[in-house]
Amino acid sequence: MPIDATQPYDDSNIFARILRGELPSTTVYEDDHALAFHDINPQAPLHILVIPKGPYVSWDDFSERGSDIEIAGFVRAVGKVARDHGLVAPGYRLLANVGIDSHQEVPHLHVHIFAGKQLGPMLAR
Ligand code: 5GP
Repeated sequence: MPIDATQPYDDSNIFARILRGELPSTTVYEDDHALAFHDINPQAPLHILVIPKGPYVSWDDFSERGSDIEIAGFVRAVGKVARDHGLVAPGYRLLANVGIDSHQEVPHLHVHIFAGKQLGPMLAR
């Protein structure tokens, strides 16, 4: 079910539980501002999710309420994960779903990193 990204943050969501260590994840990177782990249902040979550690529903929420330090830390973490996986030369795709029309399912901001094959044109019709 897609979520309504205008709703307040709900800290029972699955990524909040991963951040609290209540659920396992295959972590590939962690720092003060971000956690990155493999998607449980990969849509590409490499499919990593990067999440901020703070309680933000979506990119919209984060860009409005996140501090400059959190935003800089998160954006840098996404780039570092991609570089650390050698993705700049072959290329990769970033995706952040926000709300109902995008079919965002987990109400904690996450950026998808897709890589490992020719990803093709971006938009499904
Ligand atoms: P969204 O549609 O919200 O942008 O993407 C949510 C993503 O989270 C999906 O790609 C889904 O496979 C992934 N996901 C959902 N539950 C879990 C989980 O418990 N662990 C991990 N690693 N990924 C999850």
